[in-house]
Amino acid sequence: MDLDFWWLLVIPVAFALGWMASRHDLKALLSESANLPRSYFRGLNFLLNEQPDKAIDAFIEVAKLDPETVELHFALGNLFRRRGETDRAIRVHQNLLSRPDLPVNERDHALYELGQDYLKAGMLDRAEETFVSLQSGDHAQGAQRALLTIYEIEKDWNRSIETARHLESMGAGSLDLEIAQFHCELAQEALQQKKPDEARRQLERALKANPQNVRATILGGDVDAASGAFEAALAQWRRVEEQNPAYLPLVAEKVMKAYEALGHAEDGAQLLTEWVDAYSSNDLLDVAYKYVAALRGADAAHVLARTQMQKSPNLAGMSRLLEAQQAAAEEPRRSEIELMRSLLQQRTKNLPRYTCQNCGFRARLFYWQCPGCSGWETYAPRRVEPVPASN
Ligand SMILES: [Zn+2]
Repeated sequence: MDLDFWWLLVIPVAFALGWMASRHDLKALLSESANLPRSYFRGLNFLLNEQPDKAIDAFIEVAKLDPETVELHFALGNLFRRRGETDRAIRVHQNLLSRPDLPVNERDHALYELGQDYLKAGMLDRAEETFVSLQSGDHAQGAQRALLTIYEIEKDWNRSIETARHLESMGAGSLDLEIAQFHCELAQEALQQKKPDEARRQLERALKANPQNVRATILGGDVDAASGAFEAALAQWRRVEEQNPAYLPLVAEKVMKAYEALGHAEDGAQLLTEWVDAYSSNDLLDVAYKYVAALRGADAAHVLARTQMQKSPNLAGMSRLLEAQQAAAEEPRRSEIELMRSLLQQRTKNLPRYTCQNCGFRARLFYWQCPGCSGWETYAPRRVEPVPASN
């Protein structure tokens, strides 16, 4: 029994030795461990007993006595931050920074980690201040990336553009895709403030940074439509087809409204049915179906729904097809179809979603920046139904 108990005690020590052995050779380790202050083992003990605050105090004590424990502080600080215990991570990193003998590169590293702690804790002002102080050295580029994140959270798009360009000059690669989106954000703000000239200026810059940016084209149409220039707006939105037809569902409703405003609703319905036919999109069909039913009657809408359903079967399409059949049916068949349709509609109402291709976040609305992972243009512009797991 005594022997078994001894082995239990050895396990945590073996872990600690393993950690140290990975960094030093055994001979150096043995001489080092003989020199390690007692507070180091006290700290380790507190950590293993899940008493992190006492562990921090013990390690701070070690750090005062032994300058070799910097790596231990970084490991500890990152561990706390990952677990969401940002106040503890901040304490660890601040303590490191308070050491007067800390070499410059370690000092930069500690500042960078402290900035990440503040960012994670949502203390954006302090995070910004910390990252701004890191203008040179190994962590300068990482600091600029973090600053870009902060300016995006704050929706400070001018500084976002400035920082992205600075990052490019530091060799971070092209950020044109993001920069075009920042200009689009500025254009959208200008549009809301009824400043069409400023909006157009920003859109021009967006397309200069990224000629593939569809959002700038769509917003260009919005600016024209806001001033009643519907012909010009339609010309812009129709350009989306040349740029990337996958984005057409985002303009379908706008296009119909503009044709209606010009008194040519039938031309709009015709264009939409052509798009549905060419791109076989259920999102396009949603819009086209509504207008075709209103303008050309139930039979024409039925044909449209059936053709698309044959090309691309899904539950939402089935619900729409039943709706079309219901409109043409007589009683009592009509009531039966109504029952099936409402049941199916309840089940499928929230099914189709936009899905982030980066993090998988699903949303009912389309976003240019993912609310889950903050990536730009990570949503495919089509809603998809989840595929049920097969047995
Ligand atoms: Zn995402």
